[in-house]
Amino acid sequence: MKSTSNRKNIIYILVLSVAAAILSALPPVLSARGVTIKMGSFVMVASQLSGIFTSIRLILLVIIVLIGKKAGMIISFVIIGVSSIPSLPEMIFQRSYNSLPGLAGNICAIIILYILYDFIKNINIYNRMLHMLSQQDPLTGMHNLTAVRDDIEKRIKNGDTFYVSFLYIENFGAINDMMGRDFGNTVLKTLAGRLIGNTVEGEYGGKNGDSEFVLVVNVAKDCQNPVAEREEVASRLRQFIKQVKRPLIIENTEITLEPRAAVVKYPDDGNDINELYRHLDDTIAHYRNQSKMELAFYDANVTNELTENSKIEDRLFRALSTDEIHLVFQPQFDLETGNLRGFETLSRLEDENGKPIRPDKFIAVAEKTNLIFRIDNWVLLHAIKTFKDVVKKHPDLIISVNISANHLQKPGYADYVLRILRDNDFPNKNLEIEITETVFAASIDTVREALTKLRDNQVKVALDDFGTGYASLSYLSQLPVNLLKIDKTFIDKMDNSDMDKDFIKLIISMGHVLHTKVLAEGVENEKEKAALQEWGCDMVQGYLTGKPMEFEKALEII
Ligand code: C2E
Ligand code: MG
Ligand code: MG
Repeated sequence: MKSTSNRKNIIYILVLSVAAAILSALPPVLSARGVTIKMGSFVMVASQLSGIFTSIRLILLVIIVLIGKKAGMIISFVIIGVSSIPSLPEMIFQRSYNSLPGLAGNICAIIILYILYDFIKNINIYNRMLHMLSQQDPLTGMHNLTAVRDDIEKRIKNGDTFYVSFLYIENFGAINDMMGRDFGNTVLKTLAGRLIGNTVEGEYGGKNGDSEFVLVVNVAKDCQNPVAEREEVASRLRQFIKQVKRPLIIENTEITLEPRAAVVKYPDDGNDINELYRHLDDTIAHYRNQSKMELAFYDANVTNELTENSKIEDRLFRALSTDEIHLVFQPQFDLETGNLRGFETLSRLEDENGKPIRPDKFIAVAEKTNLIFRIDNWVLLHAIKTFKDVVKKHPDLIISVNISANHLQKPGYADYVLRILRDNDFPNKNLEIEITETVFAASIDTVREALTKLRDNQVKVALDDFGTGYASLSYLSQLPVNLLKIDKTFIDKMDNSDMDKDFIKLIISMGHVLHTKVLAEGVENEKEKAALQEWGCDMVQGYLTGKPMEFEKALEII
């Protein structure tokens, strides 16, 4: 393309140069012959014609400089110079200055053409600088978003096969918040230096967002062994990850970054850049927060799951406004007396076709959005309203409600629960909130404050799914918990080995040391129940003693 337009330019310059040279040669010939042109009453003498030709020549020379830049300027100077030579002997030897105006005109033309050339040259430099700036990330000097997109578009046009990876730093936000923006910027600059230093020919690196980098790696076309190819790319990307993970020392502080990389392949995972980028974002959204995986290749299931999740989100959103969520209640029994202790409230939701959506699934989707706050508040309010009259007749009955750990990090949550209880005239002592061990990942002071306020007002607190999370003994001893609920997974494997049995016994005695009651979840048979009874477990909840049931059925049990 470029060479065709070059050839065209050379032809234009040649034609224009010849025309300009002829126009330069004409004026002396016309005045020597005393040529005049008559058109009716209009008469034009040789000197007037020469003036017109010189002006046209100047226009042609300007066009030559515009097209040919430096070469055009040289050609123009040669044409002007050569056309000036015949007048020089007359001026030098005969001291006749008739050609002086023509010569002065030529010198002016040279100056104008030089200024024009200089102007074009500067514009080109500015354009190049602007282009460079538009392709560069100002902070790190790396290629920016536009440059990377251009590079990928070029590879797609060439029909290359390549992989694109988004590399982001999981803990960058925390570092930035803790150490300040300047520190964060230094981290990014250092990181960019490491990435650029590690990039080899055929690869392209750039910065995509605040703390996200892009890497493009070419591979051979028509690969016969896709597994080996993927392994090769993975090992190359692991080298980048290794570079990022090398400890950084900035302002005498050592930090270690936690890089994560998502990878897609062109053309397998997307036909154009937008699809590739969308699938990279899907991969990040899928693995973020739920896995410590450093390197994840895109998989179509990821997009399917995200689509499914977004459908569930829509469904939840609608169900909340139309009260289509409904509640079921699972009984809990005291193992010593065999008495009913109370019920755990569990949510149920169906899709548009009436097919149940698994609670752990819709709760997980809701946890990722702020919908969980609305769901939990809805469940709390409806559970209280449903059992309000029942607990007045059965003052020892406990109604427990699952509360997402995120709630306890919200200031004023305890006050909110107490207000709902007061407004609905539900006795505080009959409510239990169930939290999971994920609360320990949050600020312990805020959690402790909220739970203490609830306990001081007689609301009970249960620690759900105990044994699966982060609870440490020291944390546990600081929190006002009334009940430990041993997770079903431990009950399921109690027959596997003595160690599994010992583990359950250990949780039971730990609960008692901490002065909390212990409940076993998911008890499905008499054998399990008998063993738990023998080991001193206080309560059971499970299919053996009662599946989650509708309110009317719960009333029958009461
Ligand atoms: P969870 O709080 O641990 O609830 C106990 C789960 O175990 C319930 O599952 C219950 O149906 C099931 N289960 C109880 N006994 C047995 C048994 O003997 N065998 C088997 N196989 N399962 C048993 P479900 O209702 O599917 O709820 C799953 C999880 O979803 C709950 O676990 C809870 O964490 C969450 N969840 C349910 N409803 C809500 C809610 O309204 N708010 C919040 N935040 N979470 C909820
Ligand atoms: Mg629960
Ligand atoms: Mg549980």
